[in-house]
Amino acid sequence: MAGPRVTVLGSLNTDISVPVPHLPGPGETVLAAAAASIGTGGKGANQAVAAARLGAATRMVGCCGDDEFGGRLRGALAAEGIEVTGLRTVPGAASGLALITVDPAGENVIAVAPGANGLASEAEVAAAFSAPCDVLVLSAEIPVPVLAAALHRANAGGWQGDGGAGARGGEKGAWKGEGGAVARCGEKRSLRTVLNLAPVPEEADRLLAARPGWLVVNAHEAGVLLGAEAVDVAQAQAMAARLAAADAAPGPGAGSLAGPGSGAGPGDRHVVITLGAAGAVLAGPGVATAIRGFSVPAVDTVGAGDAFVGALAVALAAGLDPAEAVRAACAAGATATTRRGAQDGLPRPADVLAATGFLWPEIPD
Ligand code: ADP
Repeated sequence: MAGPRVTVLGSLNTDISVPVPHLPGPGETVLAAAAASIGTGGKGANQAVAAARLGAATRMVGCCGDDEFGGRLRGALAAEGIEVTGLRTVPGAASGLALITVDPAGENVIAVAPGANGLASEAEVAAAFSAPCDVLVLSAEIPVPVLAAALHRANAGGWQGDGGAGARGGEKGAWKGEGGAVARCGEKRSLRTVLNLAPVPEEADRLLAARPGWLVVNAHEAGVLLGAEAVDVAQAQAMAARLAAADAAPGPGAGSLAGPGSGAGPGDRHVVITLGAAGAVLAGPGVATAIRGFSVPAVDTVGAGDAFVGALAVALAAGLDPAEAVRAACAAGATATTRRGAQDGLPRPADVLAATGFLWPEIPD
C-alpha cells in the first residue's frame, strides 16, 4: 500500500530573529548582540516539514507573496520533498513575516505581519481537496472562514475520485510500539481532520461547530477556550473531556463551554491538550488518558507544538490508534525541544529514537 498522505492547509512565514541584550521598550532602539538570522517558518509550513521528515507524502497548501521571501518559502518546502503545487503566489502581496527579538534568557517579543496568509480563500480549500490525503491539518494562522469551509468540505465527503471520505479496504496493521520490533502502518484509511487552534481565533466556536475530527491545543490555548488554564494534569484531562463533548464553544475568554449535559449532544471529536514537559492529555469517543512526557534535555521549546501536530498527523495517517498516535506525537515534540530552531529542530525518525528511545513506525514508500 502507499504510505501515509498528509495535507497541511495553513501559514508560511519568514522568521527574522534578532538577538538583543534586552527586549526593546516603547520608542527604544536596541542594538543587536549578533547578526540577524533569517529562517522559514509559519505554523503550517513547520507542521508540513514535521510530517514530511517523519515519513508522510506531504502537500502544503497556502499563500505566499510575490516577493523574494515567497520564493524562499516555496523553495524551502520543496527541498524537504513537500508537494508545493497547492501554494499560491498572490500578485502584489507581501509574504508572511515574523519579526522576533530574543533576549539572552530566551524571552522574546514577536510581531507578525500575516501578509499573503491573510489572503487565503476558497481557492486554497479547492487546492487542499484537489488530491487525496489521509489527514488534513488545519492550522489557525489563516482566516477562519477558510478553515471552516475546509472542515465542512471534509465532513461532506472531501474530494471526488478516491472513495470520498470513506475508508479504503484493508486490515489495520500491527503496531509494536517501542519494543524493538519494526512497526508497520495501518492499512485502513479514512480522511481525518486535525485542527490546531494556535493561536485561538476570535471565532473559535465556529470552527468547533464545524466538527473537526481532532482538536489540538496547548495548555494556554485550552485556557483561552475554557476561560481558565489547567493547573495540573487531572484538570487538563477534565478540560479535554469538556472540549471533546461539546459541539460548540463560546468565543475566547468566555469562560463557560457548553459541555456534557448542556444539550450540545455527544461529541465525536478527539481533543488533545499538550502540556509541555508533562506530555499531553487525550479525550474522545471511548478514550480518556494522559500520556506522560518523555524525559529529555530540552534546549529550545520553540517548534515543539508544530512537531507534535505534524507527527500526530503522520501517526494517524499511518493507522495508529488515538492513544498510540498521541504518544508518538509526544516523542516527536520532546525530540524537537532537544534541537535549536523552529523548522531546523524538527526531527526525523532517527532523531526521535536517539532522543527518546521511541521507535517511529516504518513507513512504506
Ligand atoms: P506548544 O509548543 O504549542 O506550546 P507544548 O509546549 O505543550 O506545545 O509542547 C508540545 C509537546 O511537545 C508536548 O505535548 C510534549 O509532548 C512535548 N514537549 C514540549 N516541551 C517538552 C519538554 N520540555 N520535555 C519533553 N517534552 C516536551
